[in-house]
Amino acid sequence: MSEDPTRWEPATRLIRGGLMRSEHGETAEALFLTQSFVYDSAEGADARFAGDQPGFVYSRYANPTVKMFEDRLALLEGAEACRGLSSGMAAVHMALMGLLRAGDHVVAGRALFGSSRWMLNEWLPRFGVEATTVPGPDVAAWKAAVRPNTKVFLVETPANPLLEMTDIAAVSAIAKEIGAKVVVDNVFATPIFQKPLELGADVVVYSATKHIDGQGRVLGGAILSTQAEIDASYRDPFRHTGPALSPFNAWVLLKGLETLDLRVRRQTETAAALADLIADHKKVTRAFYPFRADHPQHDVARKQMSGGGSLIAFDLGSREAAFRFLNALEIVDISNNLGDAKSMATHPPTTTHRSVPEDQQREIGLTPGAVRISVGLEGLGDLSRDIARALDAA
Ligand SMILES: *Cc1c(COP(=O)(O)O)cnc(C)c1O
Repeated sequence: MSEDPTRWEPATRLIRGGLMRSEHGETAEALFLTQSFVYDSAEGADARFAGDQPGFVYSRYANPTVKMFEDRLALLEGAEACRGLSSGMAAVHMALMGLLRAGDHVVAGRALFGSSRWMLNEWLPRFGVEATTVPGPDVAAWKAAVRPNTKVFLVETPANPLLEMTDIAAVSAIAKEIGAKVVVDNVFATPIFQKPLELGADVVVYSATKHIDGQGRVLGGAILSTQAEIDASYRDPFRHTGPALSPFNAWVLLKGLETLDLRVRRQTETAAALADLIADHKKVTRAFYPFRADHPQHDVARKQMSGGGSLIAFDLGSREAAFRFLNALEIVDISNNLGDAKSMATHPPTTTHRSVPEDQQREIGLTPGAVRISVGLEGLGDLSRDIARALDAA
C-alpha cells in the first residue's frame, strides 16, 4: 500500500485510522468482547508472552478493538503511541503516577478539573509527592514554583471551569530547562483544536467520555506520548494495576471518533454565537469564551488553538440568580457533563467543584454566580431562545 496514514487529513484519519479487519471483511470495526486469547501450541504461547511473536495475550494488557481506538486517536493527535483507559481520571492518575516517585514535586495550574485538584491535594501526598499550584496564565509563577525535585508540570488549558488559558509552549520551555515532563489535559480544546505535543508537551491526556464519545454513553480515557515514554513510564504500571478500557467502550468511542471533527466544529460555531448573546445580556456580569476578544488570555487562545471550543462560562452575580437561570431552561439540560450532542448547563460551585475548598474556589475566580454551558448540536435558533429566556428569568 502506497498510502501513508500520517499524511492523511484529520477527517480521513478519523474514519480509516487504526482500522484492522478480520478475515470476515466486516465494514464496521469488529467488537472483540474477549478476555483472553488462545495459542496454536505451547511454543506459540511461550513466544507471544516473551514478546517474540506479535499478538494479544490478555485484554488487561491489550485488545484488538481497544488497539483500533488507540491507533486512531494517536493518528489524529500526531502521537507515536496511545493507551486507552477506563476513564479520564484513570488517565490523569496513570499519567502522573507513571512519572512520579516518592520525594518528587509537581507544579500545576490552580484551575483544574475537581478530581485532578483532589489528587494533588489529598492523594499524591500519601505517596510522598508534593504539589504547588500556580495561576496558570502567569508563566513567571510556573518558573518561580520550581524546586530541585520538580518532575512534572500538569497543565489543563482551557481550564475548568472558567476557561483560563495557559501558554503550553512557554511552560514547556521552562520544564525542558529543568528536565521535568509536561502533562496536558486537553479535554476542553479537543484534539481537533489543540496539539500539545507540537507545542512542546510530553504527554497528553483525554477524558474520552467528553467530546470523543460525545453522545452520552460510555466512560473512557487516553494517554498519548512517544513510544519510548509509553514503554518506559506506562507499560508496566498499566499492565499490573488494571485501568484497562473495556472493548465495548472502545468500540463506542471508535464510532464517536468518526464524527468528532464534524461535531466539534458545529458545536464550536454555535458556541461562538451563543457566547456573544450571553456576554451582551444585562444580567451577565462576566462572560468567558476563549475566542472572544474580551477573554483575559485571548492572545494565548488564538496562538495555540485553532478553534474556540464548545464551552462557555459566565457569571450571574449570585447563586440564586444562577439557580433561577438553570431552572428556567427548557431545552438545555442541567448536567455536569460536557462535550455532548445535548447542550448542558451546570453550576460548578455546587457540582463539579464541590470538593474544592471555598478559599481555593475563590482563588480561581469561581464565584457563587458562575455557570458553565457545554454547547451541543441542537439548532442555534432554539438554543438562543432558550438561553435568552433563562437569562431574563435569572
Ligand atoms: C471530565 C474530565 C476529566 C475526567 O474524566 P472522566 O472520564 O469523567 O473520568 C478530567 N479532566 C477534564 C478536564 C475533564 O473535563
